Amino acid sequence: MKIIPYGHQFIDAKDVKEVIKVLKSDWITQGPKVKEFEEALCKYTGAKYAVAVSSGTAALHIACLAVGISSDDEVITSPISFVASANCVLYCGGKPVFADVQEDTVNIDPIEIKKKITKKTKAIIPVHFAGHPCDLEEIYNIAKKYNLIIIEDACHALGAEYKGVKIGSCEYSDMTVFSFHPVKSITTGEGGAVLTNNKEIYEKLLIFRNHGITRDINKFTVKNVGSWYYEMQELGFNYRITDFQCALGLSQLKKIDKFIERRREIVEFYNEQLKDLEEIILPIEKPYIKSSWHIYYIRLKDSTKRRAVFEKLRESGIGVQVHYIPIHLQPYYRKIFKYKKGDYPVAENYYETTITLPLFVGLTIKQLKYITYKVKEIINEKK
Ligand SMILES: *Cc1c(COP(=O)(O)O)cnc(C)c1O
Repeated sequence: MKIIPYGHQFIDAKDVKEVIKVLKSDWITQGPKVKEFEEALCKYTGAKYAVAVSSGTAALHIACLAVGISSDDEVITSPISFVASANCVLYCGGKPVFADVQEDTVNIDPIEIKKKITKKTKAIIPVHFAGHPCDLEEIYNIAKKYNLIIIEDACHALGAEYKGVKIGSCEYSDMTVFSFHPVKSITTGEGGAVLTNNKEIYEKLLIFRNHGITRDINKFTVKNVGSWYYEMQELGFNYRITDFQCALGLSQLKKIDKFIERRREIVEFYNEQLKDLEEIILPIEKPYIKSSWHIYYIRLKDSTKRRAVFEKLRESGIGVQVHYIPIHLQPYYRKIFKYKKGDYPVAENYYETTITLPLFVGLTIKQLKYITYKVKEIINEKK
């Protein structure tokens, strides 16, 4: 039986053609397509600067480095996210501190953020869970009051809007991070980007992407040098993305509005089909939000039934998932920071009850009907 996955890329003949063009050209890495893709991301989101890198994780890492996150710094993020949202702080020697999530959106709760602020707090990494933007205005006001940096983890949220403003515009943040992994809004295979309106941060990002090296004569520590000369001024990484990946990204970005539209249609279908099931809670979208709907999650009111429902859906060929195991409960985090069950009750309760259903552009109406039929059948027989 072929499993219907929870997410899948959508690649058409145009995408393939654009990649092949670059493969036949002189530059397969760091050629013109990288800059073009960065400019297209700026145009789409409204941000001034973009730096494309090899993954969303790399983007989070250089975002932290660019604002100098280091040992002794605390950074507040959500426990309901992919581990990379917190790991990027660890990479810099800092301490990730979690703040519990809201019951309705599963996004980080501004009230909980406030409770976690100490003298060591340097930044906040809000994660736009499932593509639904966080309470950015509230978080922005907290950051202003306590002089904190905001790095939006928008890996789920390319194409989303907050109060009419595109995520990625950095209107309420210092930087926004995207991922172009195949399950995300658009793909470059692996890939990611950091967007910012701050020129100083932008220049740092460029340096950290490429080993900490600069070739800008205005930035050299010495004068009157040969044209071969470059300087390594920071400890950076090779987080470069290739030109053919950016060609794919450019071609994909042209389709983003259609992609988001299709995702929203699928969500409407799920909502309509599942709204009368009393045993589950459906995800919400606040009135001033346009979600990019990265994932569609249902919550079982009775958590003791989750596992059986999950396994039965899998046995039916439906590639359900759980997003996410709370980061603070991962053995590595428990060991180092002594986190334990009960530390973040809203996040933990969400985790105990959630199941992610398939959601991707190429999902057919036949598959959707099968999934909703099975969900209803399995949940009703559990009564
Ligand atoms: C996908 C994802 C990342 C990491 O992106 P990669 O491109 O896979 O490295 C980080 N944060 C969140 C919330 C993600 O979903």
